[in-house]
Amino acid sequence: MGELPEFSHTSLESLRQPLEDKMVTISRVSGTVTYPASFMMVSAMNPCLCCYFSDPKKKCTCSSSAVSRYQKRVSGPLLDRIDVFVEVPSVEYEKLVDEALAQNSSYARQRVEQVREIQRERFKDNGFLCNSEMGRRKSGNRALWTKAPRPCSKQQPNDLTSPPEHSTGF
Ligand SMILES: [Zn+2]
Repeated sequence: MGELPEFSHTSLESLRQPLEDKMVTISRVSGTVTYPASFMMVSAMNPCLCCYFSDPKKKCTCSSSAVSRYQKRVSGPLLDRIDVFVEVPSVEYEKLVDEALAQNSSYARQRVEQVREIQRERFKDNGFLCNSEMGRRKSGNRALWTKAPRPCSKQQPNDLTSPPEHSTGF
């Protein structure tokens, strides 16, 4: 879902149930039906309407209230159901189109397959594959919680010069 805040409030809020319960319930005059709805939601949004809020190279032209209004279009309860957030700084056009710096799809697939294999082994006795399926109780047994957040990788998201040194997770 690109431009997440541009979707209607009703559409965004309707994602809460399937994200939480992995089921979707549709009610009509003739009856109510519940379907399985386990999916991975990947979405993107700009930090503000002009796209340059917190950009180190270009000044944002939005007022602080406009930035706040734009970011609040995505509700807290919906944000609570999203597992991973990554802030991605802008990338210069030359870097974006430089094929020598790009990762090819087969390399990306290989990394995904490695992580899936780790997860298959990790959760082999649990009947699920993803961290998001662990729930609070199970994650407490498996996750090492720290007081301060640490970066997942030394490589910054805008550094497209080489693949990460270690690719054991996302
Ligand atoms: Zn702006």
